[in-house]
Amino acid sequence: MEFLATSLLELITQTATNLPPDVRAAMSLAAGAETPGTQSAQALDIILSNVDMAKEDEGPICQDTGMPTFIVHTPVGVNQLRIKKVIREAVAEATRCGKLRPNSVDSLTGKNSGDNLGEETPVVHFEQWEEDEIDVRLILKGGGCENKNIQYSLPSNLDHLGRADRNLEGVRKCLLHAVWQAQGQGCAPGALGVCIGSDRAHGYDLAKRQLLRTLDDTNPNPTLAKLEAEILEEANRLGVGAMGFGGKSSLIGCKIGAANRLPASFFVSVAYECWAFRRLGVRLDAATGAITKWLYRDPARKVERMARGEGFALTGREVILTPPLTEAQVRALKVGDVVLIHGEMFTGRDNVHAYLMKNPPPVDMNGSVLYHCGPVMLQEGNPDDPRTSRWTVKAAGPTTSSREEPYQADVIRRYGVRAVIGKGGMGAKTLAALKDFGAVYLNGIGGAAQYYARTVEQVLGVHLMEFGVPEAMWHIRVKGFAAIVTMDAHGNSLHADIEAKTGAALEALQEA
Ligand code: SF4
Repeated sequence: MEFLATSLLELITQTATNLPPDVRAAMSLAAGAETPGTQSAQALDIILSNVDMAKEDEGPICQDTGMPTFIVHTPVGVNQLRIKKVIREAVAEATRCGKLRPNSVDSLTGKNSGDNLGEETPVVHFEQWEEDEIDVRLILKGGGCENKNIQYSLPSNLDHLGRADRNLEGVRKCLLHAVWQAQGQGCAPGALGVCIGSDRAHGYDLAKRQLLRTLDDTNPNPTLAKLEAEILEEANRLGVGAMGFGGKSSLIGCKIGAANRLPASFFVSVAYECWAFRRLGVRLDAATGAITKWLYRDPARKVERMARGEGFALTGREVILTPPLTEAQVRALKVGDVVLIHGEMFTGRDNVHAYLMKNPPPVDMNGSVLYHCGPVMLQEGNPDDPRTSRWTVKAAGPTTSSREEPYQADVIRRYGVRAVIGKGGMGAKTLAALKDFGAVYLNGIGGAAQYYARTVEQVLGVHLMEFGVPEAMWHIRVKGFAAIVTMDAHGNSLHADIEAKTGAALEALQEA
């Protein structure tokens, strides 16, 4: 097995940095369906450019490289313990090289292991099979979309859809509801992996395994094939749109499996996958561990550029913001404005927000821009020598902001934050604070980690490093950081509007 380590490292690197062809094709269709000039179309332009950048630089497509989940089939007699050990070594090496973000956090102490290894991480499933080769599939599914997974226990009453019974019509309602409840928080357009039946735990596992199918395949079960096609068509009539900005492209795939259930249970388990649908696989020679074949790829077809034209083009109507910001500057902004930030900002997510509730900030945040982001950072040079040590940003897209809803209003008021950047929007408490204090919420494009990393001119410093790389407070200087005002200082929220409109669309589908 002399090639096993290099084969697995290559699998991880390619999965994290190079979107598979079926997802590229689906995203091209989604972008083509969107109305030019809309916010969703702009978001898709940035997303497509980001996919190209990730491939060019071999950098993570999204900064959240997810929970590495391996599904391995081995011939009888192959040593699975040895394969698991090498998988763990490859994961640690990929993390060291900046292809994976350190994502393994001790659930009791909150400590990040720093190398993606820890209790039950990475996730590795083994199965034996009759073939001669080893088959390894990897899926990197990030936290934003993982948080939008949902499980229904039928019968159930669903918002805007009424009662979902224990039949296929009930399942249909669940799946439309799953797309609606995700809004932009799971970085739409997304894909659904679905399991009808089984028990709670295995149902979720089987739902995730549906994501191993290619987006363009046809379900061999005609009933499920029909339901998949219906959901894809109907979900794209809801109007969620890319990043939840409203639009025609909400779903790029729906893959459904069915498993037997207990008489008393009827679960519908949904694995919601974001547009950054990273899964690949390899066949390995069982004697040497060398790659004999890539799965999900056609070796005869070269990887095509995704961006249309020049990608995201500036119109000249963008509002330039140079922090520190004044109250008057942010009160002049309104929902729908596109801003370009030139200057300094601070990152802060879950741990930083919790810290700020009890402690003063380590920096002056008056007039600041606070970016909900857990970047991938690499330290170059000698870490003990400040003359040579230097942090570089490898990936830096926005994280889901709703997690900070319990804290954000207080952080804005207490410390004078004038702009918060994240994705998916925030709730009523934050909206009220934006209005009272004079601040805005800016929606970045979720998953556009390479696009945003290129806007970072310099890492000026880091605070609260004890929280680990993704959770630390990074002080960066950016140039041309593009985002869209989705919650303004006048009480307007694009997210609340889209949620209401798409809810009405669900009701219309119900009546149709
Ligand atoms: S694209 Fe969005 S949901 Fe997907 S991993 Fe990245 S941040 Fe999370």
